[in-house]
Amino acid sequence: MKKFKRYLVTSALPYANGPIHIGHLAGVYIPSDIYTRYLRIKGEDVISICGSDEHGVPITLKARKEGVSPQQIVDRYHELNKKAFKDFGIAFDIYSRTSNKIHYDTASEFFLNLYNKGEFTEKVSNQYYDEEADCFLADRYIMGTCPHCGNENAYGDQCEKCGTSLSPTDLINPRSTISGGKPLMRETLHWYLPLDKYEPWLKKWILEDHKEWKVNVYGQCKSWLDQGLQPRAVSRDLDWGVPVPVKGAKGKVLYVWFDAPIGYISATKELTPDWEKYWKDPETKMVHFIGKDNIVFHCIIFPSMLNAEGSFILPENVPANEFLNLENDKISTSRNWAVWLHEYLEDFPGRQDVLRYALCANAPETKDNDFTWKDFQARNNNELVAILGNFVNRTLVLTNNYYGGKVPERGKTNKYDNEVLAEIAKFKAGVEVNLETYRFREALKEAMNLARLGNKYLADTEPWKVVKTDPERVKTIMNIALQITANLTIICEPFLPFSMEKLRSWLNYTAPKWSNAGKVDLLLPGHATNKPELLFDKIEDDAINRQIEKLMNTKKANEAANVKVIPAKDPITFDDFTKIDIRTATIIEAEKVPKTVKLLKLKIDTGIDVRTIVSGIAEYYVPEDIIGKQISIIANLEPRKIKGIESRGMILMAEDKDGKLVLVSPVKKVDNGSMIK
Ligand SMILES: [Zn+2]
Repeated sequence: MKKFKRYLVTSALPYANGPIHIGHLAGVYIPSDIYTRYLRIKGEDVISICGSDEHGVPITLKARKEGVSPQQIVDRYHELNKKAFKDFGIAFDIYSRTSNKIHYDTASEFFLNLYNKGEFTEKVSNQYYDEEADCFLADRYIMGTCPHCGNENAYGDQCEKCGTSLSPTDLINPRSTISGGKPLMRETLHWYLPLDKYEPWLKKWILEDHKEWKVNVYGQCKSWLDQGLQPRAVSRDLDWGVPVPVKGAKGKVLYVWFDAPIGYISATKELTPDWEKYWKDPETKMVHFIGKDNIVFHCIIFPSMLNAEGSFILPENVPANEFLNLENDKISTSRNWAVWLHEYLEDFPGRQDVLRYALCANAPETKDNDFTWKDFQARNNNELVAILGNFVNRTLVLTNNYYGGKVPERGKTNKYDNEVLAEIAKFKAGVEVNLETYRFREALKEAMNLARLGNKYLADTEPWKVVKTDPERVKTIMNIALQITANLTIICEPFLPFSMEKLRSWLNYTAPKWSNAGKVDLLLPGHATNKPELLFDKIEDDAINRQIEKLMNTKKANEAANVKVIPAKDPITFDDFTKIDIRTATIIEAEKVPKTVKLLKLKIDTGIDVRTIVSGIAEYYVPEDIIGKQISIIANLEPRKIKGIESRGMILMAEDKDGKLVLVSPVKKVDNGSMIK
């Protein structure tokens, strides 16, 4: 493996039109944070770059919908997400934003460089234009009738009713969502990045030179390259974004996918005047952490831009993750099907590491994975509490009880002790090899195995029993247990930074250094430790059930929002209506009609007479419950025979979306035979 002088770690810039959820964390930010923390305690020169992606049509649309400016939208989510990352210990060196001036300057300069080198091709195409608003219309700004399902509110890029992807010219009766008017076709000039021209270079760079990339990443790149690449427009007709910095480009901005990755460069510039050594020195290793939806941008398009510019290095690796689902359903912002970070911290204060742990242990590294609250609870109770917490707690409590918190001498060791001591030395390499190859789940498992080793060592040696007969032996046991604990504060630091900081404060141990991992004399005899508390607490069923219930309520609310109310029937005249004799009546007898499932035979007092009506409500009402109930009937419906019984009239029912029938009653008791009009 090539040795690099320094590292540049980037994490996908989250889009500033919504909050961060566990899917983002599991897919991008936890792995990038583990990797960065590991490099830092190794003493490497590393910087970790992230920030908000603040351009693009979804932001302008959201602003329009809320009646605020795009800047207000991005300000809101930039602050919210910046805080969420900080709260979860995601240790970026900078969390910048693409609406900064430094980014505008950097992105413009980048564009101009390529422009002056003649890299772009120019093309005139036809696009919808809103004359009243005096602007071209992005796909999402055009609505019309879907040619497939007739939905009158389909967008220019997709019909959300039938799911078909569309182009604006597919829509029947297109209209502008800005003015509501009919858009016209107009010619517009745009600049294109000729990806087709870069294809041979990309094929060699990825398919031959980067066979070590993760299978899911390599596979997606190969499939794109096999299909053949097309030139891609780098500009858009829009008023929100980085203006295209050339003549004749009024009203045009850089396309968001072009400007967003340049955001990594501008953020680095903002962080350090020394930015060029991270971006231009081949001794720097650049790694992009992203989700699978970003693979094409970070493996094909951005490297093509960097390569065409010529002075930049290329990513060494792009360890993209697949998607995390939530309780067997796709995470969705619009359906509120997510665990939001700020809400998690309200419900589980101080438990950042538990979520970090659960998300890493179950990370969607090679395929989509599912987050369930039951799994979260099990990870906490059976692993963090029962293994790591239990071992650490026993070690520190016994040290306090036996030696007033002072580390005892390690006396003569036996064969088992020596095996354990030799074992401790192996974890460093085991975790390292997995971290260096972006296998974070395996790395975490290996780190936890050190806690397992400690837990087993105490269970096997039983110092709490031996102390009565052989106190000297117990000193040796506790010394070894303490060395394992000190090792844990290093090995587990990248994964569980909050807990390891606590543990170090109890151990009175210094900042973690990766090179110290595996050593068995980290705590010298006589070193004073502090009184510990519990490292992890059990999570009880009701806390988990509350979360599951919250999701179930979301599901119900979504279903209710999806209920399609039957459209109104054709109009009738008032005369038509007055022909129907609707009035109140009381049920005085009720019995099931034999050999039927649905029918009840009711005796009704209508105020005019007492009569029999047969009604299909037996699945929803039992006879004894409805006797005495006041209801509504149609009194003048022609009599008909049902199962040999003459039914005179009809009971009024409301039918809900599942076909369930409910009696319609006056809200206050009235005389039988009162007209309903
Ligand atoms: Zn449709």
